[in-house]
Order: sequence, then structure tokens, then C-alpha cells
Amino acid sequence: MVILDGKKISNQIKDEIATEVAQMKERGEKVPHLAAVLVGNDGASLTYVGSKVRSCKRIGFESTLKHLPEETTEAELLQLVKDLNDDPEIDGYIVQLPLPKHIDEQKVLMAVHPDKDVDGFHPTNFGKMALDMETFISATPYGIMELLRRYDVETEGKHAVVIGRSHIVGRPISILMSQKGKAANATVTLCHSRTKNIKELTLQADIVISALGVPHFLKADMVKPGAVIIDVGITRVEDKSAEKGYYITGDVDYENVRKKASFITPVPGGVGPMTIAMLLKNTLLARERHMAKAL
Ligand code: NAP
Repeated sequence: MVILDGKKISNQIKDEIATEVAQMKERGEKVPHLAAVLVGNDGASLTYVGSKVRSCKRIGFESTLKHLPEETTEAELLQLVKDLNDDPEIDGYIVQLPLPKHIDEQKVLMAVHPDKDVDGFHPTNFGKMALDMETFISATPYGIMELLRRYDVETEGKHAVVIGRSHIVGRPISILMSQKGKAANATVTLCHSRTKNIKELTLQADIVISALGVPHFLKADMVKPGAVIIDVGITRVEDKSAEKGYYITGDVDYENVRKKASFITPVPGGVGPMTIAMLLKNTLLARERHMAKAL
């Protein structure tokens, strides 16, 4: 069994990006600049955004954090989005989800300019991804694909079962895995909460990608020997004995499933760090595209 070490691979990717940034600096070019918009004080969001900003520093990007209070109105947020769209210093930016309930998430994501949408959530970018065109692929599915590629995991002709159909993970990864290319060419089954007999399907799967957010959902008796297991789930489970008062766990019963798997991602240290690395990769791409446009 091989552990798909997202931490190690994400560090390699960050090092590769840092080398490119150093070369940009040497040539006197502007370095990539990522902005993050955070509304409110959700604990998990603060952690994610903090980690993204720290990663920017480490690889030599410029970064800006726009932290707004919970009471920010939709109109105020839309104005900030417009300002970021118009700001030539900013190459790409993300609006950290979830947003407070009084703000229409879709309206905000639609307002992000597709050329700066390094999360790949805008319909233009999602559509391009589905049509196999050059775009920003959203960071989590992009990270899964990159992990499979870098470990040379055979996917061609394999049966991949994806659990979860969200717009940011399940649906895009099901599209990407079914496309032509490396780490793709799979036959994909997409499951969700209305799917009957998930176990019957996962038992047929060569690759299981679990993205539902239910701790330890995928048990050892649901996977066939030799399967590749990708655990996207990140759930905080309350634990008074833990230093932070919680621990992080995935969708997979890791200790038991790993005994049957050929490849498996741990949580933490699997898909999570890859997501950040691919966001940085998208920001570098955004800078390169803006530079090419300006020529
Ligand atoms: P989401 O929007 O809540 O979607 C969950 C999906 O799982 C839905 O399609 C839902 O079905 C399905 N589902 C829920 N319970 C199910 C069940 N018992 N059986 C079958 N399907 C079920 O979640 P998400 O944003 O995709 O995130 C999923 C997990 O990945 C979460 O733990 C999240 O924290 C994690 N995540 C991790 C990363 C990372 O970087 N590693 C990034 C993003 C998300 P319906 O559509 O029918 O409701």
C-alpha cells in the first residue's frame, strides 16, 4: 500500500512555484499577487485563509487579506469584489466560503471576474473546464488530479466511483476523471445522498473518491482489495481531550481501509495541502496570463 502524501507533493509544487517566482523577480517582473476575502470569523475559514496567506509568503507571492466583519452587507461585499476586479495589482483572488447567510453566495461568485477567479468557481471557468478548455480548474479537484499524476496511478479504463456531487468537489472531479488525458480516461459513477446501494457501487470501484463530509463513511467492507482511495472529507470532530478541542478526520475509516487499498490519501496530509498548492498554481497561471495579455 502506498500513501499518497499530499503534504510532500504539495511542498514539491510550492518549491517549483517558488523557483519560477524567483526567476520572475530576477527578470524584474511583477510577482503574482493573491488576495483573499474573508467575511466573519468562522474558525475553519480563518484557519484556511491563514494557511493560504502563509503559503503565499513562503513562495514569494504578494498577498492581501481583506477581512470584513460578519455584518458586512451584500452590497459592500460586491463593491469590494468590483474593486478587486479593477485593481491591476491583484492577479487573482478568492472569496472564502461559506459566506454569512444574509449574503447571496452565487451572486458574489458570479461577480468575480473570470480572469481573476483562481478558485475556478465562476460558470465561465467551470464551463471551460467541462469543455476541456484552458481555464482555472478549482483547486481541490485539480489537486486530486495532480496527486494521481505525480504518483503515476493508473486511471485509464478504471471504474472511478465519486461520492458527493457538490459544485466544488464531487461534480468537477467526476467530469475531469472522465475526460481524456493523464490521470483521467476513467469510467465514472457519481453518487449522492439519493443513490441506492452505494456499497454495491464502491465494491466495484477501482478508484473511490469520497467527498461527502461524513466521518468514517467509507468502511473496509465497502471497498475491493487493491482499490485506490481518495479521501476529500475534512470534518472537525469535537474532542475535549484534544489541544484545540477538536480533531480533524476524513470520510474514510482509514485504519481499516488502508489494509485493503493499493493507494490511499491520509487526512490530514492528503488532499487538503494539495488544494492550497493548486490555488497557488492557479495564481501563478493568472499572473502569466495577465502578463501575456499586456504584451
Ligand atoms: P457538500 O457541498 O456538503 O456536498 C456533500 C455531497 O455529499 C452532496 O452531494 C451530498 O448529496 C453527498 N452526501 C452527503 N451525505 C451523503 C450520504 N450519506 N451518502 C451519499 N452521499 C452523501 O460538501 P463539499 O463542499 O463537496 O465537501 C465535502 C467534504 O470535503 C467536506 O468534508 C469538506 O470539508 C471537504 N472538503 C475538503 C477540501 C480539501 O481541500 N480537502 C475541499 C473542499 C471540501 P446531495 O447532493 O444529495 O445532498
